[in-house]
Amino acid sequence: MEVDDRLHLVGVPEGATLNGSLQDDQDWSVLQPVWDVVLAHSYYTTSPLWPIFVSNTFFFVCMIPYVILDFYGLDHWSWVKRYKIYPEVRVTWTQARQCLSLTMWNQMLFVLPISVVQWVWTPVTVFPRRAPSLFEFLWQMYVALAIFDAFFYIFHITFHRVKFLYRHVHSVHHRFARVNIWVAQYDHPWELISLGFLGTISPLLLGAHPLTSWAFMMLNDWVGADSHGGYDLPLLPHRWVPFWGGPVHHAMHHERPLTNFAPYLTWIDRVCGTACPGVKAGGYRNPDLVAWEKKNAKRHDEMQADTEGHILHLD
Ligand SMILES: [Zn+2]
Ligand SMILES: [Zn+2]
Repeated sequence: MEVDDRLHLVGVPEGATLNGSLQDDQDWSVLQPVWDVVLAHSYYTTSPLWPIFVSNTFFFVCMIPYVILDFYGLDHWSWVKRYKIYPEVRVTWTQARQCLSLTMWNQMLFVLPISVVQWVWTPVTVFPRRAPSLFEFLWQMYVALAIFDAFFYIFHITFHRVKFLYRHVHSVHHRFARVNIWVAQYDHPWELISLGFLGTISPLLLGAHPLTSWAFMMLNDWVGADSHGGYDLPLLPHRWVPFWGGPVHHAMHHERPLTNFAPYLTWIDRVCGTACPGVKAGGYRNPDLVAWEKKNAKRHDEMQADTEGHILHLD
């Protein structure tokens, strides 16, 4: 009671607290133990730098399996090449270094300063005492995913169709026509910031709990890694979740940049006529893709050449 009265005095919403204790069992959520850990470390977790720390750390964790496959697995495990989308293309340390240095510059010169500015002018973060219920968490993740997918499609197709935006911003991400894990965050800073903004507002539009927002941010990290990984591995969700895009869908976007604009799902591309079947494990170009190329490749290449002008590809 004492804690609630104090919070009320400083204008904190009903049911909120600065520590993690939860007395009433009827509101218990399966996510409460996780949220209690967050509350117990609120000195760190209320910082605006916390989401950046979580996102970057998680993204680098997501990269590790692909780095192992690219730099060790391809030379030592025969099965790895069978699942690579472009088996003839190898990632080099020079490419990796080039991508990593841009990623680091973007973080230090843009993302970090923006976060520090935000730290100065935003009010102190106050967390709700309760974790979201599992049901609320799952439906908000799903709907945020659909919202982000639609936003991203509009954003992405605009950056391809408006020549100025493509040549001066989005072409940075397209310097590599064959995907690899290092390309996932190889973006122009304005693109990185815009995507971060879209990823942040999608759960906020639903009034999502901070835990849901962070989980959605981590989901975005993982999707970025999955879709650029360059491997059509059997356990990845695009093999068993209907309409899931994944690495096959996005690898084709890098090969044919005027197709497959949606990041998560394939249905918007199918409805809007921008879908193209992807190259599968071992470089397999299935009959649907061969038929698509017979019908559309010439026109696609002409449009892409017109959009690009004289942009250099490094693949
Ligand atoms: Zn990409
Ligand atoms: Zn693109």
